[in-house]
Amino acid sequence: MLRLDSGDIKTLQNAVRQASKPVVISHVNPDGDAVGSSTAMLSYLLSLGKDARIVLPSEIAATLSFIQDEESAARTLTAEGHKIEATALISAADLIICVDFNTLSRLDAVGDMVRSSSAVKVLIDHHPGPERDAFDLVFSETEVSSASEIVFWILKALCGGADRLPGRSPYALLCGMTTDSNNFGNSTFPSTLEMASELIAAGVDREDILAHIYNSYRQERLRAMAHVLGKMKITDNGVAILTLSEKENRDLGLQEGETEGFVNLPLAALDVRLSIFARQNIDAVRVSLRSKRGTSCNEIAHRYFHGGGHVLASGGKIFIPQDVKNFSSVEDYIKRVTDEYFAEN
Ligand code: 5GP
Ligand code: MN
Repeated sequence: MLRLDSGDIKTLQNAVRQASKPVVISHVNPDGDAVGSSTAMLSYLLSLGKDARIVLPSEIAATLSFIQDEESAARTLTAEGHKIEATALISAADLIICVDFNTLSRLDAVGDMVRSSSAVKVLIDHHPGPERDAFDLVFSETEVSSASEIVFWILKALCGGADRLPGRSPYALLCGMTTDSNNFGNSTFPSTLEMASELIAAGVDREDILAHIYNSYRQERLRAMAHVLGKMKITDNGVAILTLSEKENRDLGLQEGETEGFVNLPLAALDVRLSIFARQNIDAVRVSLRSKRGTSCNEIAHRYFHGGGHVLASGGKIFIPQDVKNFSSVEDYIKRVTDEYFAEN
């Protein structure tokens, strides 16, 4: 259950009042929750007349850009695209508000910039195991749908009601909650439904959000889905393995973000308890994991894929050549490590 400390909210309010150059930061490959929660926090800071910015380690996928309005998009920049400017903003910041990640390692190179900054640092997150030492103030709660949900309850307290949330924040928060809960499919708590109810009552157009999230893809995504599901393997332990190489990605004409959600599809099969999607990237093989109740995919992500996350939704990486000799060996690697895990658990 979400329990916010009114003293912590007061501390945040004071830190915001005193700040003149606040920066909001979220994780690498930002998902809907990262974009939604950071955009909402930016709107709040702007409503107080602050010269606020969002700095992200990497670009927002085109499929998620609808979450921002013109003003928030203009105030968002990435370290990937504008390294010098991003570095300057972080080093000049007097307040850094981090949303939707638990450790600075989730920021890649931006993590070190934040660590060495002398700004007041605030973390608002819903993942287990927050790196408390790196922050002055931490709002951490795992029994919620999303970071957007925690930001909602904080902003509601600060603004005096859900109908008084500023600018793009109501829309952005409902987007973040909807994507992280997979449209109320997982991580949905009483507080999640209350939040949705209050935002819809405040006028947020949920149908518009659903149309953007679920019915606005290019055909290429559907064809890629068919391709990836067509060659899916399911092990005797009920582990579904999906893979996509760089070449397949290119041949299918996919853009960044267009394989979002593929990992959830195999869970529709009764005998699948864990789904793993491995896709080849420039630096490493990115791995997404989703499990059904009774299987902790974050343990598997931590143990075999240099990652972590939530109990039922996690991620990590497979490194070539440290973990496997090439991408063709990824499927065997996943089968071997999950066989080992399920032999022990
Ligand atoms: P996705 O599969 O959507 O990329 O990630 C699902 C969840 O896994 C994220 O919300 C995040 O909590 C976690 N996650 C993804 N990638 C990583 C990673 O490389 N390291 C850690 N620690 N967590 C990750
Ligand atoms: Mn999240």
